Amino acid sequence: MSDLKILNEKSLAGPVFGSEAYRQHEQLVFCQDEETGLKAIIGIHSTVLGPALGGTRMWNYENEADAIRDVLRLSRGMTFKASISGLDLGGGKAVIIGDSRKDKTDALMRKFGSFVDSLGGRYITAEDVGINTHDMEMVKLETDHVTGIPESMGGSGDPSPVTAYGVFMGMKAAALHRWGSDKLAGKKVMVQGIGHVGETLVRHLSEAGALVTINDIHEDRVMEISERYHTHVFRGRNIFDEEMDIYAPCALGATLNDATIPMMKCEIIAGAANNQLADENRHGKMLKEANILYAPDFLINAGGLINVYSEIVHYDRNESLRRTENIYDTTLDIFKVSDAEGITTHEAALKIAMKRVEERRMKPAGA
Ligand code: NAD
Repeated sequence: MSDLKILNEKSLAGPVFGSEAYRQHEQLVFCQDEETGLKAIIGIHSTVLGPALGGTRMWNYENEADAIRDVLRLSRGMTFKASISGLDLGGGKAVIIGDSRKDKTDALMRKFGSFVDSLGGRYITAEDVGINTHDMEMVKLETDHVTGIPESMGGSGDPSPVTAYGVFMGMKAAALHRWGSDKLAGKKVMVQGIGHVGETLVRHLSEAGALVTINDIHEDRVMEISERYHTHVFRGRNIFDEEMDIYAPCALGATLNDATIPMMKCEIIAGAANNQLADENRHGKMLKEANILYAPDFLINAGGLINVYSEIVHYDRNESLRRTENIYDTTLDIFKVSDAEGITTHEAALKIAMKRVEERRMKPAGA
């Protein structure tokens, strides 16, 4: 059943404001252009902390309800990611409905850019799945409210190395909390997905003396990275058959679920993928009960957002890395709150992120 049909009969009722998925969102903008075939939805979850920033995803959704659900879920996540990272940014995200390999044209991206521009800066866009730097250059022709553009165009460039550094910081904090030392030398780490973020994470781990095993669906990539960093390779069907101290999901979301958690032998989970918990409440609790320390994804993968933020407040890559280092301390704080209050680490991170938004709502900046 789609989210839009899940209505609380006793509430306002209605497919939008009555829907659970729409809770607390400020604005949902439907953008359509017959000439270019553009069908896009911009979700603005919150602008309490600042303009809503989040990438644009182009995906061939099975139906409109799936696209709406995705943009609502993703834009909400961006509010918490920015908040917990101490950034003066709100949460937003956009989805373009269509096959990025077949339906995407420069004209479509420019039209999308003009819709972004029409929001006057309430929403700032960036790249996400199915969108590349060239597309963002097309968007930039129509609006200044775009980030993550190439360094050659005065932007902050590829955010992935900064994301990887933040994940590494979060992982070290988790090691300190669990084992009393943040040294990763000799620890068995499984990195699932060795793309833009995964590769840099593998480099940090190798330099730290960790025993890294990599896994990816692309064999050529596996060969390249294992030779470059002298890692082990896992080629079986189920990575959870492998002995590991730390699992670093850096490919897809929802890998922490009913099927995988009972198989896990690791003590720590710390990776870059978004939305790792298939069900943020239930699976967070399952991990806690299994005594597996989970470093919340939206906290430790925020380095990319911190890097993109530099385009708004004008700092350089070194400053992005320095600010990303704070993920180490924040992660430790989250673990302490989780222990003290007997809540999951995900709940603890959400609580702290929401508190900052609420405080700002009560006392706006400059008030
Ligand atoms: P990417 O596309 O460069 O790399 C993903 C890698 O995962 C690819 O090599 C792909 O082959 C592999 N993969 C896909 N399915 C797999 C599977 N089932 N098993 C094993 N490997 C698989 O992406 P990225 O930019 O490195 O991002 C990785 C993850 O981190 C994504 O979930 C992304 O949303 C998230 N993330 C990225 C950033 C960033 O700055 N790039 C920031 C925040 C979050």
